Amino acid sequence: MKREVVIGLEIHLQLKTKTKLFCSCSTDYIGATPNTNVCPVCLAVPGTLPVINDHAVDLAVKMGLGLHCEIQDGTRFHRKHYFYADLPKAYQITQYEHAIAQGGYLDIIADGKKKRVHLDHLHLEEDAGKLVHPTADGRLSGAAYSLVDYNRGGTPLSEIVSMPDMNSPAEAIAYITQIRQLARYLDVSDGEMESGSLRVDVNVSLSNPDGTLGTRVELKNINSLKSIERALEYEIARQNRVLDEGGRLVQETRLWDDVAGVTRSMRSKEGARDYRYYVEMDLAPIDAKPDYVQKIRESLPEMPWDRRDRFVEEYGLSLEESQQLTDQREAADYYEAVVKAGAPAAKAANWMRTEVQRLLRENGIDITEFPVTAGELGKMIAKIEKKDLSNTQAKDVLAVMYSDRLSVEEAMKKCGASGGKITADALRAVVEKVFASQPEAVETIRKGADKKGAKVKFLQGLVMRETRGNADPSEAAGIIAELLK
Ligand code: ADP
Ligand code: MG
Ligand code: ZN
Repeated sequence: MKREVVIGLEIHLQLKTKTKLFCSCSTDYIGATPNTNVCPVCLAVPGTLPVINDHAVDLAVKMGLGLHCEIQDGTRFHRKHYFYADLPKAYQITQYEHAIAQGGYLDIIADGKKKRVHLDHLHLEEDAGKLVHPTADGRLSGAAYSLVDYNRGGTPLSEIVSMPDMNSPAEAIAYITQIRQLARYLDVSDGEMESGSLRVDVNVSLSNPDGTLGTRVELKNINSLKSIERALEYEIARQNRVLDEGGRLVQETRLWDDVAGVTRSMRSKEGARDYRYYVEMDLAPIDAKPDYVQKIRESLPEMPWDRRDRFVEEYGLSLEESQQLTDQREAADYYEAVVKAGAPAAKAANWMRTEVQRLLRENGIDITEFPVTAGELGKMIAKIEKKDLSNTQAKDVLAVMYSDRLSVEEAMKKCGASGGKITADALRAVVEKVFASQPEAVETIRKGADKKGAKVKFLQGLVMRETRGNADPSEAAGIIAELLK
C-alpha cells in the first residue's frame, strides 16, 4: 500500500491589539528601538503580576467562532517552562489542557476540490522576545555574541492547532491561505508571514502500511508559503527515502534551510513532561459566558466563504471569479459598491479583475488606496452599458480618473470622449497633432503633389488610429480637408 502524506499545522497568529497580553506595553515593535516597549511585567521583575488584556480574548473568541470552534468558559492559563534568553520568566504563559476554543473546522478548496480540515483547538498565549545575532546574515553560527530584544515579548498570539487532516502540500497551502484570509476578514491579525504576524509549524509524516499514523517530524523556521511548499516536498522525499532504504524515522524537530533547500535535525522532540506545565495561579480563569460569546458572534461580518458562495448565486459569477473578488474583504466591499452604483455585475467583475487589477499592480497599491471611488467606477461602467462610452475609450478614461483624480465626467471631457464619439474640438486637436508629426506629408499635399490622394488617406488613417476608431470618418475627413487649406 502506498504511503500517504499526512500534514498537521500549528499556526501562530499575532493578535491585533494595541497593548501586550498581560501588561500595557505597546505591541508596535517593528522598527522600534530595542527594549523600549517593556515594563517590569514583561521583563519578569519579581513581584509583578500579569493582568489579562480583554481585547486579546475578544479577538481569540472571534477567530474561534469563525473557525466553528466551541468557546469554553472559565479556561485557565498554564506556565510552560523552558530556559532561553528570549523568555525572561523562564516560562511562557500559554493554555494547556483546556483551550479557550475547542474543535472546529475549516473548509478549504485545494486543487479545485472542497475538503474539511478539522481543528484540535485554538488557544491564547504570549510571544517571546527576539534574539539578534550580529553576523552578516543574522544567523547564529559565527556570531561572537547575541543580543536580546524584549519588545515582542508578551505580545498576544492565538495558536491554531489542526488535526493531521491534510494530505498534500497544496492542501497545506490552501489551509494557511484561508486562515490568513479569515484573520484579515475578522480584523483579528495582519496575518503577514514576512513580518512574522503569521507563523507556521509544519508537522509531516507518512502513513504506515496498515494506514495508521507514522512518525512525524516538525519543521520550523519557514517564512513564506513558497518555502513551506519546498520544505514539505523535500521532507516527504527524505522520509520516503529513509523508509525505502529500510530505515526508521525519529520524532524530531527539523529546521528548514531556505538557502540550501534542506531540512536539518535540530533536536529530538521534547515531550510535554519536559515543560513541567502547571496552572498559572496569578491569572483568574478566562471569563467567556454564553451571552458574551453571543455578543461576539453577532459582531462577526459575513464569512469569506459565505460571501464567495453568495457572489456566485447573487451575481452569477463563476467560482473562480468570486473567489478572486472575495479574497480580500475590502475588494469585495468595493465590488459590491460598484454594482450598487449601476454597473452590471458581470461587467463590474470583469473590470475589477482586469483594468482595476492592472492599475493596482502597476502602481504597487492596494484596493484600499485606489483613488477611484466605487461609485465613479460604477457610473463609468453604466455609461459603457448605455453606449455613452466605448470600451476602448473607457480604458483611457479610467486611467485618467486614476492619474488625475477626476470624476467620470471630468475624465471623459479630458479624453474627448462623449456619447461614444469624440467631440469636434478633440478631433481637431488630434488632426493637428497628426499633422505636426507628419510635416512632409502635409507639405506634399499642400504643394498639390499628392496626385492619387494617397497621402491624404495616410493622414486619415493615422487620425482614425489615434482616436481608436471613435471618430466619424467623414467628420475626420472634413476637418483634415479644412486644415489642409
Ligand atoms: P505537540 O504538542 O508536541 O506540538 P500535538 O499532538 O499537539 O503535539 O500535535 C501538534 C501538531 O502535529 C498538530 O497540528 C497535529 O495535527 C500534528 N500531528 C500529530 N501527529 C501527526 C502525524 N503523525 N503526522 C503529521 N502531523 C501530525
Ligand atoms: Mg507544538
Ligand atoms: Zn510590559
